[in-house]
Amino acid sequence: MDCERAEKLIQPYVQDKMPENEMEDFIHHVRNCPACYDELETYFIIRQAARYLDDDEKQSYNLKGLLAKDMREKERRIQRKKHRNIFFSVLIFVLTILLILFTLHYLDFVEIPWLKGLF
Ligand SMILES: [Zn+2]
Repeated sequence: MDCERAEKLIQPYVQDKMPENEMEDFIHHVRNCPACYDELETYFIIRQAARYLDDDEKQSYNLKGLLAKDMREKERRIQRKKHRNIFFSVLIFVLTILLILFTLHYLDFVEIPWLKGLF
C-alpha cells in the first residue's frame, strides 16, 4: 500500500469504518511509515479526546498508547476471523470428502471397512 491510499484510509480507520480487506495492509504500512503514523495518530488522538470529554468516568487515558493498542486489537480481530475462515474451509472440505465416501460406499462403488454394517 502506498502513502496516498493509506492517507485516504485514515478517516475510515479512526471512525471504525475501515474495509476489512484493507486493514492488514493499512496497519502494516502505518507501522513502517512514520509520516502516515503521525497523521493517523493525530486524527486518532483528536477522536479519542472527543470521546474522553464525553466520558463521565474520566479514566486515565494514555492517548498515544491507545493507538498502538487499537491497532493490535484490530489486527487480532482480523487474525481470529482468518483462522475461523480457514477452520470452516477445512471443515467443509472434510465433510464433503466424507459425504462422497459415504455415497460411494452406499452405492457399492467402494468398500470402506469401517463403514461396514452401518449401511
Ligand atoms: Zn505512508
